[in-house]
Amino acid sequence: MTSNTENPAHVVVVGAGVIGATTALYLARSGVQVTLVDRERPAWGASGRNAGYISMVTRAPGGQLSLANLSRELYGELAEEIADFEFQPNGALVYYYEEQLPLIPGFVERRVADGLPMEIVDGDRARELFPLLPDDVVGAIHSLRDCYLHPEKFVEAAVAAAVELGTKVVRADVLELDIQDGRCVGVATSEGQLAADAVAVTAGSWTPALLEKAGLPFHVLHMRMQMAETAPVEERFNVAAYGPSLFHEYAFVRELPGYDDDIVMHPLQQIMPEVGLLELVCQRADGRLWLGCPIEFVDGPDASPEPTVAGLAQTFGVLGDHIPALQHIPVERVWGGIAPQTGDGLPVLDGVSRVPGLFIGSGHAYGATVGAGSGRVLADLILGQQPAIDMTPFRYERPAITEGMARAATLG
Ligand SMILES: Cc1cc2nc3c(=O)[nH]c(=O)nc-3n(C[C@H](O)[C@H](O)[C@H](O)COP(=O)(O)OP(=O)(O)OC[C@H]3O[C@@H](n4cnc5c(N)ncnc54)[C@H](O)[C@@H]3O)c2cc1C
Repeated sequence: MTSNTENPAHVVVVGAGVIGATTALYLARSGVQVTLVDRERPAWGASGRNAGYISMVTRAPGGQLSLANLSRELYGELAEEIADFEFQPNGALVYYYEEQLPLIPGFVERRVADGLPMEIVDGDRARELFPLLPDDVVGAIHSLRDCYLHPEKFVEAAVAAAVELGTKVVRADVLELDIQDGRCVGVATSEGQLAADAVAVTAGSWTPALLEKAGLPFHVLHMRMQMAETAPVEERFNVAAYGPSLFHEYAFVRELPGYDDDIVMHPLQQIMPEVGLLELVCQRADGRLWLGCPIEFVDGPDASPEPTVAGLAQTFGVLGDHIPALQHIPVERVWGGIAPQTGDGLPVLDGVSRVPGLFIGSGHAYGATVGAGSGRVLADLILGQQPAIDMTPFRYERPAITEGMARAATLG
């Protein structure tokens, strides 16, 4: 952990996604004058396009889970404190079929040992919690601490709360960091220079471009992820549902006893192995369903975010097969976005020791889950305060970030 400022009066935050918005909010609450800069608008990036899952059940033990636990607590608080963001704190339901039974007890035992409260429910209870499930669902894991929110509304609510405390939101392209005598003293933007006591780079997938211009390597892979929205349905549910193909995407799950690709992967995943799938369905306050979420690696942050044939084929094919009740619901909208993935699956939340005044909050592959906690700890570091969790896993100077690292898993 590096804290390299003392009582900064003015902080520029670059990028108004979930990380930048929450960092700005927590800084503003401490009396800091914040300028939040985005070249588009708040929530334009991955933060306004994601599924909104606060996914505890899939977080690997260690740094991922400790940051997710902190975030989960803070989202609960923020739901009481800022404008409505459709917070649904009713847990996640991972439904499964006969084939996956060998994996389930070991998975639950492991997660409970990791401190995550969850229970196994039978098929009837699963259908009570998620009425669209078919009769051949034999049971589900109900992970009680999971929740979901409306991602765009959350960012907008966090920014609005920061603005009420004096934060200025500026639309400008940050062209480079202003580093003088080794210290970051502001940013150069398309609209002119912005001076600051500290700069936080929370530019999501675009962070590497900005840091590399300053000679600071920042290695990430880039993922295109996709979502679809249906017309409203009459049946109501408020759990964040996942299907069994999800298990394939996480390294810590693949190491569990009973794990076998053949029991968790749908045939469509086997035919299109270059597309990962986080099989998920949730319902919005207006009754619409959100379906997701395929993952493809792309060349860079400016690859097209638009949905692909393979991505939608997997989403609709796997979900339509697992949950036949979905098959004839009209699809109203599809979209995609680009998110970064670091070689070790952990974001960077740190001050850069070689450049005092510069802080990084980036490399988030599951930034909705850990957004509030990331903003909190980054604000703590900028303020020179001790964060509530061990920050060692999130330091900038680690080989996965500064040298890059090949990875075998999509997300875990
Ligand atoms: C379809 C999809 C589904 C997902 N589902 C989930 C999920 O359910 N749960 C979960 O935890 N995560 C999910 N994610 C991942 C999550 O969305 C991201 O991890 C998270 O949004 C990253 O937030 P961020 O603030 O770092 O970046 P972003 O939200 O991408 O924000 C970066 C901002 O920086 C701005 N910017 C960039 N460069 C500059 C510059 N030079 N000058 C000015 N502004 C700049 C951009 O305009 C953008 O607004 C999903 C992602 C996608 C795409």
